[in-house]
Amino acid sequence: MAACDETQAESWNHVTALLSTVSHEELLDRDLSLQDLLYRLYHEDGVRVYAPAHLALGCRCSREKLEDVIRTFSDDDIQHMVVDGRIAVTCQFCNAEYVFDPAAFGADPSGAPEARG
Ligand SMILES: [Zn+2]
Repeated sequence: MAACDETQAESWNHVTALLSTVSHEELLDRDLSLQDLLYRLYHEDGVRVYAPAHLALGCRCSREKLEDVIRTFSDDDIQHMVVDGRIAVTCQFCNAEYVFDPAAFGADPSGAPEARG
């Protein structure tokens, strides 16, 4: 395991040492493709370029996943999530808002006991 870490560290040092030789001119050269730059840097080690993958904006959050998350909280904590008769959860990754009926989690929709005064 330690030998593997050492080999990886050496490989990383080798790769970064070569990468540090790239000039600003090379990076800004419109006639130098990224593949050519990679080949220029790493041809002695062998260069393999994978087919490009299309990236899409997306989040794997779902109503069902957030329901599962809410259910991990205690009844008291869930009760404290009730605001204006609902539990609203905003995904911190994609900013989508999910609104739940507190009754679905056994909570009182009229709000937390403290809030009722
Ligand atoms: Zn999301």
